[in-house]
Amino acid sequence: MDYLDGLNPPQRQAVEHTDGPIMIIAGAGSGKTRVLTLRIAHLIHSKNVDPFQILSLTFTNKAASEMRQRIERLIGLEARNTWMGTFHSVFAKILRVESERLGYPSNFTIYDSDDSKSLIKSIVKELKLDDKVYKPNTVLSRISGAKNRLISWETYLNDPYIKADDEAAMKPRVGEIYRLYQMRLFKSSAMDFDDLLFNTNVLFRDHPDVLNKYQQRFRYVMVDEFQDTNLCQYLITKKLAAVHQNICVVGDDAQSIYAFRGADIQNILNFEKDYPDLFVVKLEQNYRSTKNIVEAANSIIANNKAQLKKNVWTQNVDGDLIELIKSASDNEEGRMVASTIFEEKNNKKLSNSDFAILYRTNSQSRSLEEALRKMNITYKIVGGLSFYQRKEIKDLMGYFRYVVNQDDEEAFKRIINYPKRGIGASSVEKLMVAAYEHDIPLWRAVNNAASFLSGRAANAVTDFATMIKSFKMEAERKDAFEATSAIAKQSGLLKELYEDKTIEGLNRYENVQELLNAIKEYVDNPENEDKSLGSFLQEIALLTDNDRDKDNADAVTLMTIHSSKGLEFRQVFVVGLEEDLFPSQMMIQSREDLEEERRLFYVATTRAMEKLYLSYAITRYRFGRLLDCQPSRFLEEVDPSCIKLTRRRGQQPTASHYGNQGQREGKTGFIGLKTPSVRRNTTAKVHTPSPDFKPSNTQNLSGGMKVEHPKFGFGKVQKVEVEGLNKKATIEFDNFGEKTLLLSFAKLRIL
Ligand code: ATP
Ligand code: MG
Repeated sequence: MDYLDGLNPPQRQAVEHTDGPIMIIAGAGSGKTRVLTLRIAHLIHSKNVDPFQILSLTFTNKAASEMRQRIERLIGLEARNTWMGTFHSVFAKILRVESERLGYPSNFTIYDSDDSKSLIKSIVKELKLDDKVYKPNTVLSRISGAKNRLISWETYLNDPYIKADDEAAMKPRVGEIYRLYQMRLFKSSAMDFDDLLFNTNVLFRDHPDVLNKYQQRFRYVMVDEFQDTNLCQYLITKKLAAVHQNICVVGDDAQSIYAFRGADIQNILNFEKDYPDLFVVKLEQNYRSTKNIVEAANSIIANNKAQLKKNVWTQNVDGDLIELIKSASDNEEGRMVASTIFEEKNNKKLSNSDFAILYRTNSQSRSLEEALRKMNITYKIVGGLSFYQRKEIKDLMGYFRYVVNQDDEEAFKRIINYPKRGIGASSVEKLMVAAYEHDIPLWRAVNNAASFLSGRAANAVTDFATMIKSFKMEAERKDAFEATSAIAKQSGLLKELYEDKTIEGLNRYENVQELLNAIKEYVDNPENEDKSLGSFLQEIALLTDNDRDKDNADAVTLMTIHSSKGLEFRQVFVVGLEEDLFPSQMMIQSREDLEEERRLFYVATTRAMEKLYLSYAITRYRFGRLLDCQPSRFLEEVDPSCIKLTRRRGQQPTASHYGNQGQREGKTGFIGLKTPSVRRNTTAKVHTPSPDFKPSNTQNLSGGMKVEHPKFGFGKVQKVEVEGLNKKATIEFDNFGEKTLLLSFAKLRIL
């Protein structure tokens, strides 16, 4: 097969060794993911394995869909039939089918972390505990940690060690909260993210016939990024592969970065013990990065004691030296990064999407965003407050969720009085207490509102119930798009947003339209057989932040290092390399913690293909104060012969903290050249409307016309479309690029 030709000998071995347990342990960029993809193609194509019998677990949905597309290109549409996805999405799919064994209906809701926190908050309140001690985040992470170690609330409550630990943390009642939390989830027919794993384990443990069904089905099991699996994930995978024993795990111990979420690097170290006849393949040749980058990364990770021996090398060119950028402040760091991107783009004819800026924590994005915006460089943020976490989206999704599952308490609380329908907080509380006290489903209480509430409130609740019933009928009869459009309108939510004419209000309204667009896309996609609302909701609930990036615009990627796993970019900036920030002060309490931070730095540096920049500032605003910063200790660990200090204009190159040996001065004026252009751009940006600016009547606006916008300046209309009640124009602005504007709101002067 020609797809095998492009592989080096150990890669080829890994692809062709299909039967029996195999572990591919390999350095960053050595082709692990590529091998996994080809292995699946090889199984289907050369070994005639039925795609339905292949289970492949990846870290993000995006990785799964990319893999599927690549296999599709190799072997055609059959590739769609493989079971491929994240642990959470594959297990959710299994749980949907088998949920009744666990006493759950198949339309159970998946709670996201906001729902979980809100539920914890209610429980803490009901128990009359101090919410400063029992912070939702802290409590949730203790519960989550327990679930990832397969500790049920029963065990939790009875284990003296856990009890002692909770007492030491001054939170002796976490066990009780855990118990109530699980009860309430169950009553709401809801599972949180950890339950998807925990309950799958329970399902397989208590129902051997179900386990056997899936064991027979999955003849081949594969796991990418194995170093980041937690105990629960590992045990389930092992169980699933127990009959055929064709298990292939792929990972790099040097890239294990999720210990704080329960990932256990021991899984990789113990795999050999669990499978004595294990076949191990090492991949050591890096195909991604230049020699300088590979050597720098090696020199960093060499400082870790706990690691498997590997010698990562590359035949690629030496490439540019790594550049060290030193700035006076976080804002200046932003400007330096933005202007470097600007210059590199022009000099090397690169696209925005060739660049990534990686940081330790999400809050660092602000100064970078500001600088990029000023330089007019398109960027996108992966993670952070994503589309589906915005309030208006969660509100509308609350309706959708409640229509599918009327036991969903968090959705109920969100929508019962939004838009306002005269049902006050005390009425809501009375209903919930009634359901709890009578031990009836909340929905039954809602339907018997008159029994629990007085006249006016009861009527309002009854109207609400009638409305939900009619939505339910829509959802049963129609596809997700038709049903949700009707719900958005008839719930009054669309009108509520439409009537808010502030810019934020308009934005919210557009976001809701965007959600409906996404649903339309989902319904129109032939890959989705089930077009029901329930099936759409499940898909959304399982999206991780990385997958939520919808637009394909050519943009610089900003993200945390955690989200960058497995990805590659031509040029990468790792910013904020300062003590206490990276390594993070909050995370390092022991040598192991420091090693995990170092692995994180290793992951960051190995994302770069051609050029790597390491950046730090000497002052930074944190926690509302301007703090002096020390350069990160990690900088001293980088082999000095791979790196150079970039000098700014007006600043003498200093020996800095960094050893002089091997250090070179930057090219003269490297950054200096850019400073004026930053200044020019900051002022050139805002458009001043012409003195005779007056909005025109846009009724006859059409493609090709030239217009002026008070904020975006001059542009040319690309097209005008009617969508529902809205007329939208797509306009290419000279300085702001393409924008789509609703004509009922946009002020445009036709030229
Ligand atoms: P990571 O540890 O970051 O997840 P990885 O080991 O999964 O990396 P891949 O992403 O599979 O590595 O591969 C890194 C890059 O090297 C990709 O661009 C891939 O196409 C390329 N590559 C891998 N193997 C070969 C090969 N034999 N010949 C040419 N290019 C290769
Ligand atoms: Mg990979």
